[in-house]
Amino acid sequence: MGKSDYYDILGVQKDASAEDIKKAYRKMAIKYHPDKNHGDKSAEEKFKEVAEAYEVLSDANKRAAYDRYGHGAFERGGSQSSDWGAGHDPFDVFREVFGGGGFGDFFGFGDFGGHARQSGKRAGSDLRYNLSITLAEAFGGVEKTIKYSRNVTCEKCGGSGAAPGSKKITCKTCGGSGILSMRQGFFSMQQTCPDCRGVGTRIETPCAHCGGTGRVRDSCTTKVKIPAGIFDGANLRMRGAGEAGTNGGATGDLYVVVYVSEDKRFERHQNDLHCSQKISFTTAALGGEISVETIDGSANLKIPAGTQSGTTFRMKGYGMPLMNGNGSRGSQCVKVLIDVPTKLSKEQREKLLEFEKLCAQKGGGFFQKLREKFE
Ligand SMILES: [Zn+2]
Ligand SMILES: [Zn+2]
Repeated sequence: MGKSDYYDILGVQKDASAEDIKKAYRKMAIKYHPDKNHGDKSAEEKFKEVAEAYEVLSDANKRAAYDRYGHGAFERGGSQSSDWGAGHDPFDVFREVFGGGGFGDFFGFGDFGGHARQSGKRAGSDLRYNLSITLAEAFGGVEKTIKYSRNVTCEKCGGSGAAPGSKKITCKTCGGSGILSMRQGFFSMQQTCPDCRGVGTRIETPCAHCGGTGRVRDSCTTKVKIPAGIFDGANLRMRGAGEAGTNGGATGDLYVVVYVSEDKRFERHQNDLHCSQKISFTTAALGGEISVETIDGSANLKIPAGTQSGTTFRMKGYGMPLMNGNGSRGSQCVKVLIDVPTKLSKEQREKLLEFEKLCAQKGGGFFQKLREKFE
């Protein structure tokens, strides 16, 4: 099913002014607002659609892009309205147009269908925990125990906020509906009851343990399994480890953000590990085999004769493990640097001078001559 044209959704002409677009949006948003269409799925869809159309057409740049490229201007990966829906809240658009604390409040901030307002049910917040690990831990994977504090459901009252044996009494302000109806202009509007915050009941005696909030602060410990090969800045989502909801609302999640600290020996580039290693100038000239420190031990690396300082050798399979990568690993990239001796014995010095003389006789560079001599 193709997406409807944004101008058609708002019922305006292609050359409509910004003011006309805003007017059209106001009319449509009120008509399809979920609070006026309890449980009506098609109205809910329409409300989202209208918000999406308004968001694009009210922004001069987005509108120009839409006029040129159509819906393609905002779609990634070919999916439909889900792209827009993921990062956007139609209620945000609504509040923006109708004013944050003013008009928008008349409708409450419940979720679609209005259930939230009637029960006072609110989902708990998500939490974030920053966790630092070493590169070696990122290499092997690690299990960490973390400690943090969060709001949990009060045990004494089971989250109701009422003292044991205390009754809930019907809110007098709204008569238990949780909603206050009023008229403004020719619209009939509804406001969440400020006294009971939409629950419709009030607690006679608040629970002493939580002060009537239904939630208490608690410190908790949990184990986090960090997979091998994890990247710096990766998010691990732990469902239900966030804050408790109120009045039976869902518990939030805990996001553990993993930071991989820098390592003295290796610099990480994706799954590759870069390092540098000094080699003697005779090894560089004559070739040989050196031992290289790896993230999990050591390995031998062949140095071909005539290697220049700064040459990088790639050792496949000695890098970081690929996440979910069936055990395969990236590479270790070793940059070799020639170690020029600073202290020479008399004999070493004489031999080098002798070598230098040989080079001068034939002409050409030091290493090139050396290579010729041994090849
Ligand atoms: Zn309590
Ligand atoms: Zn009330």
